[in-house]
Amino acid sequence: MMKYDDDKIEYISQDEIKDLQLSLFNQQLQRANCTQAYRGKLPNKINSFSDIKNIPFTTKEDLRQNFPYGFLAVSKEKIARFNASSGTTGIPTLIFFTQQDIDYITKRGIRHLNMAELTSDNIVQSMLGSGLFVGGWYHNLAAFGRGITILPTGTGNTKRQITLLKQLKADCIFTTSGYLQYLLSQLTEKDLADINLKKALVGAEPLSRSFCEIAQKKYGIEVYESYGMTEMGGPLSHECSLHKGLHVAEDQVYIEIINPETGENVPDGEYGELVITPLQQEAMPFIRYRTRDITRIIPNLCPCGRTHRKIEPPSHRADDMIIVNGVNIFPSQIEECIYKHLPVSTNYLVHIIKNEGLKKVVVDIELTKNLLVDEGCLKKLEKDLTQTLKSYITVSPKLNFISQGTLPDIQGKVKRILME
Ligand code: ADP
Ligand code: ZN
Repeated sequence: MMKYDDDKIEYISQDEIKDLQLSLFNQQLQRANCTQAYRGKLPNKINSFSDIKNIPFTTKEDLRQNFPYGFLAVSKEKIARFNASSGTTGIPTLIFFTQQDIDYITKRGIRHLNMAELTSDNIVQSMLGSGLFVGGWYHNLAAFGRGITILPTGTGNTKRQITLLKQLKADCIFTTSGYLQYLLSQLTEKDLADINLKKALVGAEPLSRSFCEIAQKKYGIEVYESYGMTEMGGPLSHECSLHKGLHVAEDQVYIEIINPETGENVPDGEYGELVITPLQQEAMPFIRYRTRDITRIIPNLCPCGRTHRKIEPPSHRADDMIIVNGVNIFPSQIEECIYKHLPVSTNYLVHIIKNEGLKKVVVDIELTKNLLVDEGCLKKLEKDLTQTLKSYITVSPKLNFISQGTLPDIQGKVKRILME
Protein backbone atom coordinates (compact mmCIF):
# COMPACT_ATOMS: atom_id res chain seq x y z
CA MET A 1 0.00 0.00 0.00
CA MET A 2 2.86 2.43 0.73
CA LYS A 3 3.79 2.11 -2.92
CA TYR A 4 0.67 4.04 -3.88
CA ASP A 5 0.70 6.58 -1.08
CA ASP A 6 0.74 9.98 -2.76
CA ASP A 7 -1.78 12.02 -0.76
CA LYS A 8 0.47 15.09 -0.50
CA ILE A 9 0.42 15.76 -4.23
CA GLU A 10 -3.28 16.64 -3.98
CA TYR A 11 -2.50 19.57 -1.69
CA ILE A 12 0.51 21.31 -3.33
CA SER A 13 -0.02 24.89 -4.51
CA GLN A 14 -1.33 25.70 -7.99
CA ASP A 15 2.06 27.31 -8.79
CA GLU A 16 3.82 24.06 -7.93
CA ILE A 17 1.28 22.15 -10.03
CA LYS A 18 1.90 24.41 -13.03
CA ASP A 19 5.71 23.97 -12.77
CA LEU A 20 5.34 20.23 -12.46
CA GLN A 21 2.94 20.12 -15.41
CA LEU A 22 5.30 22.05 -17.66
CA SER A 23 8.23 19.74 -17.04
CA LEU A 24 6.03 16.64 -17.42
CA PHE A 25 4.44 18.04 -20.59
CA ASN A 26 7.91 18.44 -22.10
CA GLN A 27 8.76 14.88 -21.10
CA GLN A 28 5.61 13.75 -22.93
CA LEU A 29 6.64 15.67 -26.04
CA GLN A 30 9.91 13.73 -26.05
CA ARG A 31 8.06 10.44 -25.66
CA ALA A 32 5.49 11.35 -28.32
CA ASN A 33 8.17 12.33 -30.80
CA CYS A 34 9.31 8.70 -30.77
CA THR A 35 5.98 7.42 -32.08
CA GLN A 36 5.14 6.84 -35.69
CA ALA A 37 1.99 8.95 -35.45
CA TYR A 38 3.66 12.10 -34.07
CA ARG A 39 7.14 11.91 -35.58
CA GLY A 40 8.10 15.29 -37.08
CA LYS A 41 4.82 16.94 -36.06
CA LEU A 42 5.64 18.20 -32.57
CA PRO A 43 8.18 20.60 -31.03
CA ASN A 44 10.70 19.05 -28.62
CA LYS A 45 9.84 21.52 -25.90
CA ILE A 46 7.58 24.42 -24.97
CA ASN A 47 8.73 27.24 -22.70
CA SER A 48 5.32 28.01 -21.29
CA PHE A 49 1.76 26.81 -21.77
CA SER A 50 1.03 29.88 -23.88
CA ASP A 51 3.03 28.10 -26.64
CA ILE A 52 0.62 25.20 -26.59
CA LYS A 53 -1.68 26.72 -29.20
CA ASN A 54 0.89 25.87 -31.87
CA ILE A 55 0.69 22.17 -31.10
CA PRO A 56 -1.86 20.17 -33.13
CA PHE A 57 -4.75 18.31 -31.49
CA THR A 58 -5.10 14.53 -31.49
CA THR A 59 -8.52 13.01 -32.19
CA LYS A 60 -10.16 9.62 -31.90
CA GLU A 61 -10.04 9.48 -35.69
CA ASP A 62 -6.21 9.78 -35.49
CA LEU A 63 -6.25 6.77 -33.17
CA ARG A 64 -8.28 4.77 -35.62
CA GLN A 65 -6.03 5.74 -38.52
CA ASN A 66 -2.93 4.69 -36.58
CA PHE A 67 -4.44 1.45 -35.31
CA PRO A 68 -3.02 -0.48 -33.57
CA TYR A 69 0.59 0.59 -32.83
CA GLY A 70 1.02 4.06 -34.38
CA PHE A 71 0.89 5.86 -31.02
CA LEU A 72 3.01 3.34 -29.15
CA ALA A 73 6.10 4.98 -27.60
CA VAL A 74 7.66 1.89 -25.98
CA SER A 75 8.77 -1.47 -27.31
CA LYS A 76 6.03 -4.10 -27.45
CA GLU A 77 7.57 -6.18 -24.65
CA LYS A 78 6.91 -3.30 -22.26
CA ILE A 79 3.14 -3.48 -22.83
CA ALA A 80 1.58 -4.89 -19.67
CA ARG A 81 -2.06 -4.58 -20.65
CA PHE A 82 -4.49 -3.71 -23.45
CA ASN A 83 -7.89 -2.09 -23.02
CA ALA A 84 -10.52 -1.01 -25.51
CA SER A 85 -13.07 1.80 -25.41
CA SER A 86 -16.76 0.90 -25.33
CA GLY A 87 -17.21 2.02 -28.92
CA THR A 88 -20.07 4.40 -28.13
CA THR A 89 -19.24 6.63 -31.10
CA GLY A 90 -17.75 4.15 -33.54
CA ILE A 91 -15.38 1.23 -33.67
CA PRO A 92 -13.56 0.68 -30.37
CA THR A 93 -9.95 1.80 -30.06
CA LEU A 94 -7.19 -0.19 -28.40
CA ILE A 95 -5.07 1.43 -25.71
CA PHE A 96 -1.88 0.00 -24.16
CA PHE A 97 -0.34 0.48 -20.74
CA THR A 98 3.05 -0.31 -19.24
CA GLN A 99 3.47 -1.43 -15.63
CA GLN A 100 4.50 2.13 -14.74
CA ASP A 101 1.28 3.43 -16.32
CA ILE A 102 -0.69 0.95 -14.25
CA ASP A 103 0.96 2.17 -11.04
CA TYR A 104 -0.04 5.74 -11.80
CA ILE A 105 -3.58 4.65 -12.68
CA THR A 106 -3.83 2.79 -9.37
CA LYS A 107 -2.79 5.91 -7.47
CA ARG A 108 -5.58 7.88 -9.14
CA GLY A 109 -8.16 5.25 -8.29
CA ILE A 110 -7.08 5.21 -4.66
CA ARG A 111 -7.66 8.95 -4.44
CA HIS A 112 -11.31 8.36 -5.27
CA LEU A 113 -11.61 5.73 -2.56
CA ASN A 114 -10.07 8.24 -0.13
CA MET A 115 -12.48 10.96 -1.22
CA ALA A 116 -15.36 8.59 -0.52
CA GLU A 117 -13.70 7.72 2.81
CA LEU A 118 -13.58 4.01 2.06
CA THR A 119 -11.27 1.92 4.22
CA SER A 120 -10.51 -1.75 4.77
CA ASP A 121 -13.62 -1.85 7.00
CA ASN A 122 -15.84 -1.51 3.96
CA ILE A 123 -17.10 -4.25 1.66
CA VAL A 124 -17.47 -3.26 -1.95
CA GLN A 125 -19.60 -5.12 -4.50
CA SER A 126 -18.05 -4.32 -7.86
CA MET A 127 -20.71 -4.51 -10.56
CA LEU A 128 -18.31 -3.59 -13.33
CA GLY A 129 -16.98 -5.86 -16.05
CA SER A 130 -13.28 -6.56 -15.87
CA GLY A 131 -12.67 -7.42 -19.51
CA LEU A 132 -11.61 -4.84 -22.07
CA PHE A 133 -13.75 -2.16 -20.37
CA VAL A 134 -11.39 0.08 -18.44
CA GLY A 135 -13.78 1.04 -15.61
CA GLY A 136 -13.90 -2.30 -13.86
CA TRP A 137 -10.18 -2.78 -14.02
CA TYR A 138 -9.51 0.76 -12.75
CA HIS A 139 -11.69 0.43 -9.67
CA ASN A 140 -10.56 -3.07 -8.86
CA LEU A 141 -6.90 -1.98 -9.09
CA ALA A 142 -7.67 0.81 -6.65
CA ALA A 143 -9.46 -1.47 -4.19
CA PHE A 144 -6.59 -4.01 -4.26
CA GLY A 145 -4.04 -1.20 -3.85
CA ARG A 146 -5.95 0.18 -0.87
CA GLY A 147 -6.64 -3.19 0.72
CA ILE A 148 -10.43 -2.95 0.54
CA THR A 149 -12.55 -6.11 0.48
CA ILE A 150 -14.06 -6.53 -2.93
CA LEU A 151 -16.78 -8.79 -4.24
CA PRO A 152 -16.42 -8.75 -8.03
CA THR A 153 -19.93 -9.66 -9.18
CA GLY A 154 -19.48 -8.16 -12.66
CA THR A 155 -22.23 -6.69 -14.80
CA GLY A 156 -25.92 -7.58 -15.07
CA ASN A 157 -27.77 -10.47 -13.42
CA THR A 158 -29.65 -8.01 -11.26
CA LYS A 159 -31.55 -10.56 -9.16
CA ARG A 160 -28.29 -12.16 -8.09
CA GLN A 161 -26.72 -8.77 -7.40
CA ILE A 162 -29.59 -7.93 -5.06
CA THR A 163 -29.43 -11.32 -3.32
CA LEU A 164 -25.72 -10.84 -2.68
CA LEU A 165 -26.28 -7.28 -1.46
CA LYS A 166 -28.71 -8.74 1.08
CA GLN A 167 -26.54 -11.68 2.09
CA LEU A 168 -23.13 -10.05 2.31
CA LYS A 169 -24.27 -6.51 3.15
CA ALA A 170 -21.80 -4.66 0.96
CA ASP A 171 -21.92 -1.01 2.00
CA CYS A 172 -20.56 0.33 -1.28
CA ILE A 173 -20.87 -0.52 -4.95
CA PHE A 174 -18.79 0.29 -7.99
CA THR A 175 -20.94 0.56 -11.10
CA THR A 176 -21.83 2.63 -14.15
CA SER A 177 -24.22 5.53 -13.66
CA GLY A 178 -26.92 3.91 -15.79
CA TYR A 179 -26.73 0.59 -13.97
CA LEU A 180 -27.06 2.30 -10.58
CA GLN A 181 -30.34 3.79 -11.79
CA TYR A 182 -31.47 0.44 -13.07
CA LEU A 183 -30.48 -1.44 -9.94
CA LEU A 184 -32.30 1.00 -7.67
CA SER A 185 -35.38 0.84 -9.88
CA GLN A 186 -35.48 -2.93 -9.28
CA LEU A 187 -35.32 -2.77 -5.47
CA THR A 188 -38.52 -3.49 -3.55
CA GLU A 189 -39.24 -1.87 -0.16
CA LYS A 190 -38.35 -5.21 1.42
CA ASP A 191 -35.03 -5.37 -0.44
CA LEU A 192 -34.27 -1.85 0.71
CA ALA A 193 -34.81 -2.81 4.32
CA ASP A 194 -32.48 -5.81 3.96
CA ILE A 195 -29.50 -4.23 2.26
CA ASN A 196 -26.83 -2.00 3.75
CA LEU A 197 -25.81 0.15 0.80
CA LYS A 198 -24.43 3.57 1.75
CA LYS A 199 -22.20 4.66 -1.11
CA ALA A 200 -21.90 4.20 -4.85
CA LEU A 201 -18.84 5.07 -6.94
CA VAL A 202 -20.09 5.56 -10.47
CA GLY A 203 -19.04 6.95 -13.83
CA ALA A 204 -18.70 6.10 -17.52
CA GLU A 205 -21.76 8.11 -18.65
CA PRO A 206 -23.70 11.26 -17.82
CA LEU A 207 -25.70 11.30 -14.61
CA SER A 208 -28.29 13.88 -13.63
CA ARG A 209 -27.98 15.79 -10.36
CA SER A 210 -31.71 15.24 -9.75
CA PHE A 211 -31.09 11.49 -9.75
CA CYS A 212 -28.23 11.84 -7.22
CA GLU A 213 -30.62 13.64 -4.88
CA ILE A 214 -33.13 10.81 -5.18
CA ALA A 215 -30.41 8.24 -4.52
CA GLN A 216 -29.52 10.08 -1.31
CA LYS A 217 -33.03 10.92 -0.09
CA LYS A 218 -34.98 7.82 -1.01
CA TYR A 219 -32.27 5.13 -0.89
CA GLY A 220 -29.75 6.65 1.55
CA ILE A 221 -26.93 6.23 -0.99
CA GLU A 222 -24.23 8.87 -1.43
CA VAL A 223 -23.09 8.95 -5.05
CA TYR A 224 -19.44 9.70 -5.88
CA GLU A 225 -18.95 10.26 -9.57
CA SER A 226 -15.79 9.96 -11.62
CA TYR A 227 -15.07 10.87 -15.21
CA GLY A 228 -12.47 9.64 -17.62
CA MET A 229 -11.89 7.49 -20.63
CA THR A 230 -10.02 4.46 -21.87
CA GLU A 231 -7.43 6.59 -23.66
CA MET A 232 -6.27 7.89 -20.25
CA GLY A 233 -6.48 4.55 -18.42
CA GLY A 234 -9.88 5.29 -16.86
CA PRO A 235 -11.12 8.07 -14.61
CA LEU A 236 -8.91 11.14 -14.26
CA SER A 237 -11.27 13.27 -12.18
CA HIS A 238 -13.18 12.36 -9.06
CA GLU A 239 -15.89 13.81 -6.87
CA CYS A 240 -14.92 14.64 -3.28
CA SER A 241 -17.33 14.46 -0.36
CA LEU A 242 -18.49 18.06 -0.92
CA HIS A 243 -20.15 16.96 -4.18
CA LYS A 244 -19.54 20.18 -6.05
CA GLY A 245 -17.48 19.01 -9.01
CA LEU A 246 -14.75 16.50 -9.84
CA HIS A 247 -11.09 17.10 -8.90
CA VAL A 248 -8.87 16.56 -11.92
CA ALA A 249 -5.65 14.65 -11.13
CA GLU A 250 -3.57 17.61 -12.30
CA ASP A 251 -0.27 15.95 -11.52
CA GLN A 252 -1.19 13.28 -14.08
CA VAL A 253 -3.10 15.19 -16.74
CA TYR A 254 -2.99 18.67 -18.24
CA ILE A 255 -6.47 19.91 -19.15
CA GLU A 256 -7.68 22.64 -21.45
CA ILE A 257 -11.19 23.78 -22.36
CA ILE A 258 -11.49 24.91 -25.95
CA ASN A 259 -14.12 26.38 -28.17
CA PRO A 260 -14.90 23.32 -30.32
CA GLU A 261 -15.42 25.45 -33.42
CA THR A 262 -12.26 27.59 -33.30
CA GLY A 263 -9.98 25.33 -31.24
CA GLU A 264 -9.03 28.29 -29.03
CA ASN A 265 -8.74 28.05 -25.25
CA VAL A 266 -11.65 29.57 -23.30
CA PRO A 267 -11.24 31.11 -19.81
CA ASP A 268 -11.83 29.05 -16.66
CA GLY A 269 -15.55 28.89 -15.88
CA GLU A 270 -16.70 28.84 -19.51
CA TYR A 271 -18.13 25.75 -21.17
CA GLY A 272 -16.33 24.10 -24.04
CA GLU A 273 -14.70 20.87 -25.15
CA LEU A 274 -12.29 19.22 -22.76
CA VAL A 275 -8.82 18.56 -24.19
CA ILE A 276 -6.46 16.33 -22.23
CA THR A 277 -2.74 15.67 -22.30
CA PRO A 278 -1.80 12.77 -20.04
CA LEU A 279 1.43 13.69 -18.24
CA GLN A 280 2.56 10.30 -17.04
CA GLN A 281 1.44 7.97 -19.80
CA GLU A 282 4.46 6.12 -21.01
CA ALA A 283 3.02 3.65 -23.53
CA MET A 284 0.69 6.04 -25.35
CA PRO A 285 1.72 9.67 -24.77
CA PHE A 286 -1.23 11.44 -26.37
CA ILE A 287 -0.81 15.17 -26.83
CA ARG A 288 -3.84 17.53 -26.69
CA TYR A 289 -6.43 14.78 -27.03
CA ARG A 290 -9.88 16.07 -27.96
CA THR A 291 -12.44 14.30 -25.82
CA ARG A 292 -15.61 15.69 -27.52
CA ASP A 293 -16.97 16.03 -23.97
CA ILE A 294 -18.48 19.36 -23.00
CA THR A 295 -17.75 20.73 -19.54
CA ARG A 296 -16.19 23.67 -17.70
CA ILE A 297 -13.50 24.27 -15.10
CA ILE A 298 -14.96 25.35 -11.76
CA PRO A 299 -12.92 28.46 -11.00
CA ASN A 300 -12.88 28.48 -7.17
CA LEU A 301 -10.67 26.38 -4.91
CA CYS A 302 -12.49 23.52 -3.20
CA PRO A 303 -13.11 23.94 0.56
CA CYS A 304 -12.02 20.30 1.04
CA GLY A 305 -8.44 21.61 0.77
CA ARG A 306 -7.40 19.73 -2.35
CA THR A 307 -5.74 22.14 -4.75
CA HIS A 308 -6.34 20.28 -7.98
CA ARG A 309 -8.93 22.17 -10.01
CA LYS A 310 -12.39 20.75 -10.50
CA ILE A 311 -14.53 20.26 -13.58
CA GLU A 312 -18.26 19.73 -13.82
CA PRO A 313 -19.12 16.18 -14.85
CA PRO A 314 -19.69 16.50 -18.60
CA SER A 315 -23.39 16.81 -19.35
CA HIS A 316 -22.99 15.50 -22.86
CA ARG A 317 -20.66 14.74 -25.72
CA ALA A 318 -20.42 17.12 -28.62
CA ASP A 319 -21.54 14.23 -30.86
CA ASP A 320 -24.44 13.26 -28.58
CA MET A 321 -26.65 16.02 -29.80
CA ILE A 322 -29.84 15.06 -31.56
CA ILE A 323 -31.66 17.56 -33.70
CA VAL A 324 -35.41 17.18 -33.52
CA ASN A 325 -37.31 19.47 -35.87
CA GLY A 326 -34.52 22.04 -35.70
CA VAL A 327 -34.19 21.87 -31.92
CA ASN A 328 -30.98 20.57 -30.33
CA ILE A 329 -31.62 17.94 -27.67
CA PHE A 330 -29.22 16.17 -25.34
CA PRO A 331 -30.23 12.89 -23.68
CA SER A 332 -29.04 14.25 -20.31
CA GLN A 333 -31.67 17.02 -20.47
CA ILE A 334 -34.43 14.45 -20.75
CA GLU A 335 -33.14 12.56 -17.74
CA GLU A 336 -32.86 15.74 -15.66
CA CYS A 337 -36.58 16.39 -16.36
CA ILE A 338 -37.69 12.86 -15.53
CA TYR A 339 -36.04 12.88 -12.12
CA LYS A 340 -37.48 16.31 -11.31
CA HIS A 341 -40.90 14.67 -11.14
CA LEU A 342 -40.26 11.13 -10.00
CA PRO A 343 -39.57 10.28 -6.37
CA VAL A 344 -37.84 6.98 -7.19
CA SER A 345 -35.33 5.55 -9.61
CA THR A 346 -36.70 4.30 -12.91
CA ASN A 347 -35.78 2.74 -16.20
CA TYR A 348 -36.67 4.74 -19.30
CA LEU A 349 -36.10 4.80 -23.04
CA VAL A 350 -36.49 7.65 -25.51
CA HIS A 351 -37.60 6.99 -29.10
CA ILE A 352 -37.06 9.56 -31.80
CA ILE A 353 -39.49 8.59 -34.53
CA LYS A 354 -39.52 9.97 -38.07
CA ASN A 355 -43.03 10.80 -39.11
CA GLU A 356 -43.80 12.46 -42.46
CA GLY A 357 -40.65 14.56 -42.49
CA LEU A 358 -40.95 15.55 -38.83
CA LYS A 359 -39.60 13.82 -35.75
CA LYS A 360 -41.63 12.82 -32.71
CA VAL A 361 -40.23 12.20 -29.24
CA VAL A 362 -41.75 9.27 -27.36
CA VAL A 363 -40.54 8.43 -23.86
CA ASP A 364 -41.24 5.02 -22.30
CA ILE A 365 -41.04 5.26 -18.52
CA GLU A 366 -41.29 2.27 -16.24
CA LEU A 367 -43.38 2.76 -13.12
CA THR A 368 -44.15 0.61 -10.11
CA LYS A 369 -47.56 -1.14 -9.91
CA ASN A 370 -48.68 1.25 -7.16
CA LEU A 371 -48.05 4.29 -9.31
CA LEU A 372 -49.58 2.76 -12.43
CA VAL A 373 -52.95 2.14 -10.77
CA ASP A 374 -53.12 5.55 -9.10
CA GLU A 375 -54.93 7.50 -11.83
CA GLY A 376 -54.80 10.88 -10.11
CA CYS A 377 -51.10 10.60 -9.54
CA LEU A 378 -50.47 9.37 -13.06
CA LYS A 379 -52.39 12.24 -14.66
CA LYS A 380 -50.48 14.79 -12.62
CA LEU A 381 -47.17 13.17 -13.49
CA GLU A 382 -48.05 13.15 -17.18
CA LYS A 383 -49.08 16.80 -17.17
CA ASP A 384 -46.10 18.07 -15.16
CA LEU A 385 -43.49 15.98 -16.93
CA THR A 386 -44.81 16.86 -20.39
CA GLN A 387 -44.69 20.54 -19.49
CA THR A 388 -41.16 20.39 -18.09
CA LEU A 389 -39.87 18.35 -21.02
CA LYS A 390 -41.46 20.77 -23.44
CA SER A 391 -39.81 23.71 -21.72
CA TYR A 392 -36.39 22.01 -22.02
CA ILE A 393 -36.57 20.44 -25.43
CA THR A 394 -39.30 22.67 -26.94
CA VAL A 395 -40.93 19.63 -28.53
CA SER A 396 -44.05 18.16 -26.96
CA PRO A 397 -43.21 14.54 -26.11
CA LYS A 398 -45.56 11.59 -25.86
CA LEU A 399 -45.18 9.72 -22.59
CA ASN A 400 -45.86 6.00 -22.24
CA PHE A 401 -46.07 4.75 -18.69
CA ILE A 402 -45.28 1.05 -18.64
CA SER A 403 -44.86 -1.53 -15.92
CA GLN A 404 -41.51 -2.34 -14.34
CA GLY A 405 -39.42 -4.94 -16.14
CA THR A 406 -40.79 -4.15 -19.63
CA LEU A 407 -37.65 -2.48 -20.97
CA PRO A 408 -34.54 -4.53 -21.67
CA ASP A 409 -32.08 -5.19 -18.83
CA ILE A 410 -29.12 -2.86 -18.62
CA GLN A 411 -25.48 -3.90 -18.74
CA GLY A 412 -22.47 -1.63 -19.21
CA LYS A 413 -23.21 1.69 -20.87
CA VAL A 414 -26.88 2.41 -21.37
CA LYS A 415 -28.43 3.29 -24.68
CA ARG A 416 -31.30 5.63 -23.69
CA ILE A 417 -32.11 7.01 -27.13
CA LEU A 418 -33.37 5.01 -30.08
CA MET A 419 -33.59 6.62 -33.50
CA GLU A 420 -36.38 4.95 -35.42
P1 ADP B 1 -16.40 5.35 -25.61
O1 ADP B 1 -17.65 5.38 -24.76
O2 ADP B 1 -16.04 6.69 -26.23
O3 ADP B 1 -16.31 4.21 -26.54
P2 ADP B 1 -14.98 4.95 -23.11
O4 ADP B 1 -15.61 3.67 -22.72
O5 ADP B 1 -13.54 5.13 -22.86
O6 ADP B 1 -15.17 5.15 -24.63
O7 ADP B 1 -15.79 6.11 -22.44
C1 ADP B 1 -15.30 7.42 -22.27
C2 ADP B 1 -16.42 8.40 -22.44
O8 ADP B 1 -17.49 8.13 -21.51
C3 ADP B 1 -16.04 9.82 -22.13
O9 ADP B 1 -15.39 10.43 -23.22
C4 ADP B 1 -17.39 10.46 -21.81
O10 ADP B 1 -18.08 10.79 -23.00
C5 ADP B 1 -18.14 9.34 -21.12
N1 ADP B 1 -18.06 9.49 -19.66
C6 ADP B 1 -17.26 8.84 -18.79
N2 ADP B 1 -17.50 9.23 -17.52
C7 ADP B 1 -18.49 10.15 -17.57
C8 ADP B 1 -19.17 10.95 -16.61
N3 ADP B 1 -18.93 10.87 -15.31
N4 ADP B 1 -20.12 11.82 -17.07
C9 ADP B 1 -20.38 11.92 -18.36
N5 ADP B 1 -19.78 11.20 -19.33
C10 ADP B 1 -18.84 10.33 -18.94
ZN1 ZN C 1 -12.91 18.90 -2.90
